Amino acid sequence: MAFDPRDLIRPEILRLKAYQVADARDMVKLDAMENPYPLPEDLRKAAAGLVSDAALNRYPDSQAAELRHAIRKRLGVPEGAQILFGNGSDELIQLIALALAKPGATILAPEPSFVMYRMIATFCGMHYVGVPLTEQFSLDPDEMVLRIEQHQPAVVFIAYPNNPTGTLFDADAMARVLHAAPGLVVIDEAYHAFAGSSFMEELRRHPNLLVMRTLSKLGLAALRLGFVAGAPQWLAEIDKLRLPYNINSLTQAIATHLVENVGRLNAQAAAIVTSRTQLAHALADMPDLRIWQSHANFILFRVPNAPRTFDLLKRQRVLIKNLHGTHPMLDNCLRVTVGTPGENAIFLNALRASLA
Ligand SMILES: *Cc1c(COP(=O)(O)O)cnc(C)c1O
Repeated sequence: MAFDPRDLIRPEILRLKAYQVADARDMVKLDAMENPYPLPEDLRKAAAGLVSDAALNRYPDSQAAELRHAIRKRLGVPEGAQILFGNGSDELIQLIALALAKPGATILAPEPSFVMYRMIATFCGMHYVGVPLTEQFSLDPDEMVLRIEQHQPAVVFIAYPNNPTGTLFDADAMARVLHAAPGLVVIDEAYHAFAGSSFMEELRRHPNLLVMRTLSKLGLAALRLGFVAGAPQWLAEIDKLRLPYNINSLTQAIATHLVENVGRLNAQAAAIVTSRTQLAHALADMPDLRIWQSHANFILFRVPNAPRTFDLLKRQRVLIKNLHGTHPMLDNCLRVTVGTPGENAIFLNALRASLA
């Protein structure tokens, strides 16, 4: 080859490792925080009708007006707040970062947390500062405030509840971060349906706050739809970076109908929360295993040898997430997504066999 990409590609991109998605064929799939339940039959029929009626020859509605209306009405977005849609909330993290990526600008986030905050900082040429959580995986407000004052981040990302720890950070600690931040604070509520706590109402009080949600963990991962709510002054600027038709027509039509019926999806989320409690009890009863209390649809736990346990589970056709090696505080940690009661039983049996 006459051209060497390494001469032209940015060195920090050459050093990156692409986001890995495991092959899950024929596996009990408990690795990606998906809702294990299919859409109820009547909603599937309705979705099929919407797909059949969609004008596939036309570009989508760039403003997603009907979806916007449904979300505002059903998901508690306060009066005065604006909404910006992303092709998954991952895209919104990227748009926010792109808008703020002045030379030398910083993204700050607690660690361990969602890996895309760090990756996207790299994509956009921004500095990244990770502030360690406490040993219990709670937010360390003194350390957060100190590092915020030191680094003056353009944006602080906080996953609430946090991924991969499942912890729901203390409200007073969060308030201290909000007051100390000199720039934007984005509270990423990807696991809102399982948490029973939200900062959405706080949008009325904090002009530097954005609240982000996604439909992915609620049962609609395939649609790729996230949104961020906040002051129009921020979102009008970030919206300029959005590619014109980022939310396709099928997603808009189906999501509008399902948001109108969000109670049905919340009922599935409630069943998952019940299963989470049962799964947590079963794990807590196992010897040599430490678990952290979760407010999301997954559970983080530590075993004596995570790579080995992960492999033994995989041989039994159970796929979870191995976090060993991803962050020093996650040594020998594994993360399991809450499945159906049947899937959870298969996982628990396979885990007992793997630890024996
Ligand atoms: C899963 C997840 C997301 C990404 O969700 P998409 O909308 O599917 O892109 C964002 N933030 C956190 C913390 C997540 O765990």
